[in-house]
Amino acid sequence: MEASERPRAKALQLAPPLPSVREEHAPIPRAEAWWAESLLVTFAFRCNLACTFCMVEDALDVYAGTSLEEMRRATRDPTVLRGAKRIIFSGGEVTLAKDLLAYVEAARQLPGIEHVRLQTNGVRLVDKAYLRALLDAGVDELFISLHAPDAETCDAVTQRRGSFRRILAGIEAVAESGAALFTNTAIVKANFEVLPEIVSLVAPFGPRSMEFWNYWPRGDEEGARGMNARVSEVREPLLEALGRCVMRGIPPVVKWFPRCLLGEFAACHDDGQPPSLIEDRYWEREPSYGCIYEGVCQEAPARPGGSTAGACVGLSDSYVFEHGWEEQVLAPRRGVRGPGRDDGEKVVRGDAAFADAAGVGRSLTADAGPRRSEQAVLAEFLKPLDLHVGMRFGGSWALQEVGRARGAEGALVTLTFTPSAPGGRVIVRLHGRDPARRCAVRTKSFDVSYRVEGAVRAEEAAGMLRLLFEQLDGRDPGGLRLP
Ligand code: SF4
Repeated sequence: MEASERPRAKALQLAPPLPSVREEHAPIPRAEAWWAESLLVTFAFRCNLACTFCMVEDALDVYAGTSLEEMRRATRDPTVLRGAKRIIFSGGEVTLAKDLLAYVEAARQLPGIEHVRLQTNGVRLVDKAYLRALLDAGVDELFISLHAPDAETCDAVTQRRGSFRRILAGIEAVAESGAALFTNTAIVKANFEVLPEIVSLVAPFGPRSMEFWNYWPRGDEEGARGMNARVSEVREPLLEALGRCVMRGIPPVVKWFPRCLLGEFAACHDDGQPPSLIEDRYWEREPSYGCIYEGVCQEAPARPGGSTAGACVGLSDSYVFEHGWEEQVLAPRRGVRGPGRDDGEKVVRGDAAFADAAGVGRSLTADAGPRRSEQAVLAEFLKPLDLHVGMRFGGSWALQEVGRARGAEGALVTLTFTPSAPGGRVIVRLHGRDPARRCAVRTKSFDVSYRVEGAVRAEEAAGMLRLLFEQLDGRDPGGLRLP
């Protein structure tokens, strides 16, 4: 087909650029990916507020949560704590748990842990003796949710009269205590217009960071709650709020809002979330995200279902049900992959340092479970073989990536192993058994072959492959199927 015959793309009416809302000299800090070095531990699934947008509403008074003993047991596995410098406790409302201090003390005993953070609504922190006990036990970071700058809006959102006054008193108490204060605001229809005022209210308390999380519609898959504010309407007050943060020296972070609408604040966007100890069924209602431009936009995950580390996940299905795909509003970025940052550092951050385990377990959106996540499907497949992406193998090797495909020889799964010295890799292929196929080894369920690429020493690859073949053979019970 000649170029002139191709159907013409519909001209997009992109949202006009907004004027800069900050002073020229105020540098915009990049979102700190604190989640990449954190482990989230959840318990205390009950609450003294009743926020209209609650993302664990179905879990309250239902989930047992991670017991202290379960936390201790899980964190004995070094892969669970891998790279973690921070334990984050969240629920529900963890300050309602009588044994919270014991959790904090246990967290402080864990190897490599430098920070213990509570995600809380802050209501109980007004009790200074209680706050002091938390700090003495080892809490050094308080991440407090505040969703409005006035009592009327706040109390309407939390559905508890007096909540605004108590939350603010909790924020003040934390600021006075010297502990690190962080705030979080959920962006919903009820509050998006007052986001800048929230910054003005909180800034005098000296927060280390202010986060703005666009509505996370867990349990609201079809947008029935009517919480999703139009991104085109949120954009202006959100940018104003981010500008106020920057002018006051407070690093802002934005999650689950289209990165392409953040203009000069794109570097403040980060959709990552830490790996979590939480009941499996939490993931069954995980919101799905996508973008109509994900095939062309360099900010989207590199492949459908792939790692979301450093990427923009687009809009939730819930949002799309309520408002559509916003194809006239979004502005896909074509060019070098990376979250709105054209420098080399970004590429390193997005693709290596933070893309731990190829995204598995490193992001709520990537960790959505077999219902939608490709990586989750493959992780399930690897489990009986005692393999997972990101694991060290045979000393100096790492299982870097897993993928699946359908070729001339039928379905296959590929496992990519890389040595600690860069420059080469070994790709192992698993096919279903076929007596006519030539392969390196045949387990009860699979034909296994491999290919060595790049600068890999033959004896080093042979050692790793020998171990791998032994493991596959030993672990394969027979009857396994390729996903
Ligand atoms: S993937 Fe690209 S086009 Fe889609 S919302 Fe994100 S930045 Fe915008």
